[in-house]
Amino acid sequence: MKIDRFPSEMQPYVIPEIHGEYVYRCLGCESCFGIDELLYTCPECDSVLLIEDRQWDRLKEVPGTQWRRIFDYRKMLNVPALSGIYRFHELIGSIIPLEDIVFLGEGHTPVISANEAMSDWAGIRFCFKNDGQNPSASFKDRGMASAFSYLNYLISKRGVREVLAICASTGDTSASAALYASYLSRDVKSAVLLPQGKVTPQQLGQPLGSGARVIEIPGVFDDCMKVVEYLSENFSVALMNSKNAWRILGQESYSYEIAQAFDYEVGGLAVAAPIGNAGNITAVMAGFLKMYDLRIIDSLPAVIGVQSEHANPVYLYYLEREEAKRRFRPVTVRPSVAQAAMIGNPVSMPRVIKLVEQYRKIAGEGSVRIVQVSEQEIMDSMLFANRNGHVACTQGGECLAGIRKAVAENKIDKDRTAIVDATAHALKFAVFQDKYFLDAFEPEFEVVPKPELQNAPLSLSLPDSIPNPAKGKLSPGQFNEFVEYTSSVIAGILDLKQLKREKRKR
Ligand SMILES: *Cc1c(COP(=O)(O)O)cnc(C)c1O
Ligand SMILES: [Zn+2]
Repeated sequence: MKIDRFPSEMQPYVIPEIHGEYVYRCLGCESCFGIDELLYTCPECDSVLLIEDRQWDRLKEVPGTQWRRIFDYRKMLNVPALSGIYRFHELIGSIIPLEDIVFLGEGHTPVISANEAMSDWAGIRFCFKNDGQNPSASFKDRGMASAFSYLNYLISKRGVREVLAICASTGDTSASAALYASYLSRDVKSAVLLPQGKVTPQQLGQPLGSGARVIEIPGVFDDCMKVVEYLSENFSVALMNSKNAWRILGQESYSYEIAQAFDYEVGGLAVAAPIGNAGNITAVMAGFLKMYDLRIIDSLPAVIGVQSEHANPVYLYYLEREEAKRRFRPVTVRPSVAQAAMIGNPVSMPRVIKLVEQYRKIAGEGSVRIVQVSEQEIMDSMLFANRNGHVACTQGGECLAGIRKAVAENKIDKDRTAIVDATAHALKFAVFQDKYFLDAFEPEFEVVPKPELQNAPLSLSLPDSIPNPAKGKLSPGQFNEFVEYTSSVIAGILDLKQLKREKRKR
């Protein structure tokens, strides 16, 4: 809809103004730093950073109800820059001019209600939010749209040139970074570091297809991360991991979209996310807290973080109930089907600690829970979900297993509606489905297939007496013979009932 067709009182708001004063805020010493250059850690104390708008309070001059209307009206606007995560421009990047925004179709992923069979099985009503329907098929595109829009702003307004965007990845970060870099290929090149043999073939193909330099490194993600951190401290590169606080800002859009999808009534929800490097769960909490601060929502949803037993440092940290006694200890990961979350030393841990504290202060001790699930539960949950109309990846399965566990352990109220993050598309992780179907899991995974969840193609072979189209062109008569024979075999396999009407003459 054209701007002049909007109600006159909305017109000044639907196209956002460029304003605000963004700074990096250190989570350790609380110092602030300008955003004229990319910073990843505090120059004074080395802690991680978050981005803050020093003029945030100006946004409170607009009532929460008005913000809701602004975001809802923006849905009708045909402006590409505001069609993705930047529908929420004021909350995630109000200093970025619209012409610098990179929009590749990210965000606004569907929220799909589970059917009754699934809800009964989980013990709670729930919906998947299909973040696998983003352009590179994972939620990482939300953060990359933000980080690359900022980079594009530095290029166009600050004369930054010849950027090398670099990241370490469990697969999806690199697919996404390489995609966004390729859109800016005139000024940006990209390189990705992957743990050798620890990403799926689909995930390896993605950055290759986008033209990135792909470097495989022996070890696991945590090892790649150390290398890329060293590179970013000693060489001129743009680090695209979620240590880059612009990523977190963009990923907050996930929470804004949930609020909008539920007409801003989120107090009865339980929002669940799998935890790997912990950027996503950070953004989920930060997003809801910001909306609460602006009174766009009047209560906070419960938040559930989910980890596999094979990569569970955040779970172990919160197992200690007494805050003063908690000590963070990285773990050595074991092979996990939730490979994108197979991280033993999450970079965003200090952010999580800070935000959980803020969240619990407002919404109560029970408002944030961390649960852990087994590899078996992850696989069974994913396969069961996908047999009921979903397209969940292994991490989506992990997340679903997590809410089921939280219900069983009385960690969430059954009257809530859970929002389960299907963080990537099922197709990216097809190898794990194959392993399950073929009973080919290496013992370290500790997954034993359940026959009722397995599936396999059935390959027909023809006896020599039946004409075979694979062996050369058939005459019409031979072809008929082939079709009739094959159909009768299939009718037998599928136990089909013969139609009662007269056989049609050919
Ligand atoms: C990156 C990723 C995760 C983990 O998210 P973090 O922000 O690292 O905690 C989970 N699922 C998928 C599919 C991912 O790509
Ligand atoms: Zn500091």
